[in-house]
Amino acid sequence: MFKPHLNANEEGHLVIGGVSAVDLAERFGTPLYVMDEQRIRENYQRFYQAFSKRWDNARVWYAYKANSNMAICKLLWDEGCGAEVSSICELKIALKIGVPGEDIIFNGNYKTVPELELAIKNGALINVDNLQELKVINDLSEKIGKEARIGFRVNPDVKAPTHPHIATGLRESKFGFDVESGKALEAYQIASEMERVKVEAIHSHIGSQILDPKPFGEQAEKMMNLVAQIRDEVGVEIGIVDMGGGLGIPYKPDEEALSPDDMAEETTSTMKKIIQEKDLSKPTLVLEPGRSIVADAGMLLGRVGYTKEREKTTDWVAIDAGMNALIRPVLYDAYHHILAANKMNEKTSETYNVAGPLCESGDYLGKERKLPKVERGDLLAVLDVGAYGLAMSSQHTAQPRPAMVLVNSGDVEIVRRREECKDLTRLDKVPEWLE
Ligand SMILES: *Cc1c(COP(=O)(O)O)cnc(C)c1O
Repeated sequence: MFKPHLNANEEGHLVIGGVSAVDLAERFGTPLYVMDEQRIRENYQRFYQAFSKRWDNARVWYAYKANSNMAICKLLWDEGCGAEVSSICELKIALKIGVPGEDIIFNGNYKTVPELELAIKNGALINVDNLQELKVINDLSEKIGKEARIGFRVNPDVKAPTHPHIATGLRESKFGFDVESGKALEAYQIASEMERVKVEAIHSHIGSQILDPKPFGEQAEKMMNLVAQIRDEVGVEIGIVDMGGGLGIPYKPDEEALSPDDMAEETTSTMKKIIQEKDLSKPTLVLEPGRSIVADAGMLLGRVGYTKEREKTTDWVAIDAGMNALIRPVLYDAYHHILAANKMNEKTSETYNVAGPLCESGDYLGKERKLPKVERGDLLAVLDVGAYGLAMSSQHTAQPRPAMVLVNSGDVEIVRRREECKDLTRLDKVPEWLE
């Protein structure tokens, strides 16, 4: 098995977290998201240790948008992992599970007044995206009577080799302040003269699903040079350097992983070099990983309903999990490996396209996949869906969202119940004049 936390039992059933996928599907129904608690904890520790053994004050804040299920966020907080949030609901989830404001970072290019108020009141670090937002924050701090802790999201113009929709560090991206033109430096100058904001941090996030260490080195270099420039020209010492997230995972069986160790080495060695060159004091280093913590800990189980043989083109197999449950294949052209969870001992002799149940041609989970001969009633497992899976799901075609279970060394617990039809219409209202 190419994932260390997955195996197969004697009956040829896929096993995750000590539980057979076949049993899970029978007990909880399909489509079903399954998350492996042990794997999440291990992924976090591997990531955290990689940085903390190279940097005394390294902090890791999990990016909630990857998977904001409360059980997942809670178990990460249990490991000491804070929260990177980008909406008021994510912020409320963090607060609700007990993450204190000082362990929360609030990011985003459009923060509303209620969002900023809640962040300021709780003492969360706010990474400001533009000067208008800075003014809004300064005014709100005045009104609330509490200083706002801020940093700026800067755009270091680093090209990340990834899908264009998730490359965020390029100059033309919508995020942050441009470094090269001096806009970022100017923002620090303006903030340093403001009464109600406390400038503590600098932030960038160059993109997602990055498997090459070099962009992280380039990012570190540009960020630390800017930190030196801010000290020299504005007279402000930046105490927190936030390098964002972005570490990718190997989705394809033959894809090479980038280890957290290699990423951490590239980032911290570059930072140390510039700290020495410019005689800077050593800041707290913050990372905001999302995908690399939860992606490979999750799988999506779908029951085979129908198969369709095609002349001269690929045969189809349809499962009950579609693009509403997992949109990444059609949205990002993403690859998710698919296994026949009840036929792990059989040879993958056939080739199929794997479809979902929705009325749209974009509704597929994989094309040209090697699987054993598949029949109605078989169970397919779509791997590496723990990040940006259920979090990006929809109710397209009025399909209720799948349930999610958490498994851990043989134990299972529902952490999100399956939606029902009544959940889909709960917020609708037919006006009186149609009654
Ligand atoms: C999405 C995002 C992250 C997490 O990215 P991953 O690629 O999942 O690690 C971190 N920081 C910010 C600002 C983000 O937008």
